[in-house]
Amino acid sequence: MKLVMLGAPGTGKGTQGVRISKDLNIPNISTGDILRKAVSEETKLGIEAKQYMDQGKLVPDELIIGIVDERIREKDCENGFILDGFPRTVPQAQALDEILKATNDNIDFVLELVVGREQLVKRLTSRRVCESCGKVYNVISNPPPADSKCEACGGNIIQRSDDSEETVVNRLKIYEEKTKPLKEYYTAQDKLKEFDGNGTVEDVERSIREFLEHK
Ligand code: AMP
Repeated sequence: MKLVMLGAPGTGKGTQGVRISKDLNIPNISTGDILRKAVSEETKLGIEAKQYMDQGKLVPDELIIGIVDERIREKDCENGFILDGFPRTVPQAQALDEILKATNDNIDFVLELVVGREQLVKRLTSRRVCESCGKVYNVISNPPPADSKCEACGGNIIQRSDDSEETVVNRLKIYEEKTKPLKEYYTAQDKLKEFDGNGTVEDVERSIREFLEHK
């Protein structure tokens, strides 16, 4: 099964992608995670990507398409994958279709999570993450331990630099302009399925699972 998670930043697509990937035993590929790793390792890619990421801008299509192309050719993707945070523009979606077409393949479904704007700003600015394992916390709904050490791995829990209010507003604007057109793109391919992302993590996961089980 080859799936794409679609939705604005903060809709919970990363959280759901990880859960569904465990269910289906296929990798969850987060382009944001790949880029953040490159930034922390100060690779050539990381140094270039950082300037865009810090401002909440998208990194150029050519850069990210090459990374995904390489990643989905790896052996663990043989039985499928979930893409989280890619594609984010129509040219990225077209490139993905072309890459898959080369092996007579295609995306099965695009799962879109929908959450209202006000709620998204609140979720993102109160989000905290473990810088080592990526575990997500939230100062309102799932507060980190008092010592700010991750309960899963002991790493430092931090606020992502692009989760500041100013950058969040910019990321949501860019989502509206560049990523939302993908809804039409995938609706035309009859692949888009919308889910209400306002419920609990478990509720949202259940509705995605039910959908996938009946396909
Ligand atoms: P995310 O963790 O998915 O919110 O991604 C964090 C940041 O990484 C984004 O704000 C972009 O700067 C960059 N990024 C991640 N995925 C992509 C993509 N598919 N295209 C362009 N930029 C991306």
